[in-house]
Amino acid sequence: MSATAPITQDVHTIPRKLPEGPVNLVGLTRQAMREALIEAGTPEKQAKMRTGQIWQWIYQWGVRDFDAMTNLAKAYRADLKEKFVIEVPEVVTRKVSDDGTRKYLVRIAGGHEVEVVYIPEEGRGTLCISSQVGCTLTCSFCHTGTQKLVRNLTAGEIIGQVLVARDDLGEWPEPGAPKNETRLLSNIVLMGMGEPLYNFENVRDAMKIAMDEEGIQLSRRRITLSTSGVVPEIERTADEIGCQLAVSFHATTDEVRDKLVPINKRWNIETLLEALRTYPRGRNSERITFEYVMLDGVNDSDEDAHRLIRLIEGIPAKINLIPFNEWPGAPYRRSSNNRIRAFANIVYQAGYASPIRTPRGEDIMAACGQLKSATERARKSRRQIEAEAGLAGR
Ligand code: SAH
Ligand code: SF4
Repeated sequence: MSATAPITQDVHTIPRKLPEGPVNLVGLTRQAMREALIEAGTPEKQAKMRTGQIWQWIYQWGVRDFDAMTNLAKAYRADLKEKFVIEVPEVVTRKVSDDGTRKYLVRIAGGHEVEVVYIPEEGRGTLCISSQVGCTLTCSFCHTGTQKLVRNLTAGEIIGQVLVARDDLGEWPEPGAPKNETRLLSNIVLMGMGEPLYNFENVRDAMKIAMDEEGIQLSRRRITLSTSGVVPEIERTADEIGCQLAVSFHATTDEVRDKLVPINKRWNIETLLEALRTYPRGRNSERITFEYVMLDGVNDSDEDAHRLIRLIEGIPAKINLIPFNEWPGAPYRRSSNNRIRAFANIVYQAGYASPIRTPRGEDIMAACGQLKSATERARKSRRQIEAEAGLAGR
């Protein structure tokens, strides 16, 4: 791709209803599940109630077998079994880091693999999930950016990552048991592979399921969607999902951001900031997270820190400094600890919370931007990566 080529979408999502075989109930919105049940012969008058019952079995009790749905008549269960499945991605490998981080490689239809990372912290646990296999964007510091996009994940595959993590954490309550208030999996971040705002509808439907009162029940304040800056979809995120927003900012001039986050050529810093200024917030305490990866000698100077503060003035913000996670062949190095601390200090002095993200699960390659998959087979060449980063001949 030349430096001026438009960033296009070459995405196809597999339809929910495959031509042959049963329909997967996982990932259907309540409305879609109701319609599917009616189409399969459930009387219209009963459909809402049946949806509620099945929904509760799947998302509140973690049941995958129609036979276990004891409040449904036997004949009805048999009927459901013929027409539907309850399918989640298959866990291919599972690794647990010394620090408790868990990394799962899961396989989805077509044999593709994506990674899911669970990060336990004091009093909470965050699941980092993926929205695409690969990514159409080509951020030059991101390992996923070196992989071509294979396809969008379906809503079922996105929420399915949450279900398999809850399986592994043993977090499903016994049917009928009181709701458990302490959650091992208490937060979701869309910070795995892919650009969630280029798979908007599926991400939205999956997050609606995660927030539904009758199931996984996560508050919208516990879900954070990270985008590289797909400006037209940012407003939709507020309207249709209502979750928290994180933005991969990473640079303080268009010249540098064009290289690090090439979508900047389409929607530059000023346009992005305008969209963030008007991002509606449910409460005054809600803030937009500015993610800023610390790259040695590229974006980590004191001037950058001062410029960053000037740029985001007026936006309720947190700044999340991410020490660059190096990957084999990466064209950048991580800034030194001293540099990161100096940068953080300037940001802090200006009144912003500026946590430095502690790399977690490094021993199992679970850190941000290190997630990889079988998609690696479709890797771009090093020359292509460097050309896209504007680093050719460096
Ligand atoms: N596509 C979305 C979400 C996935 S990336 C986005 O770009 O925001 C999640 C976060 O990890 C982003 O802030 C991304 O810039 C950051 N990241 C990617 N590769 C990284 C690396 N090698 N080291 C540190 N952070 C990285
Ligand atoms: Fe895609 Fe995000 Fe990686 Fe950029 S940082 S290539 S948008 S996954």
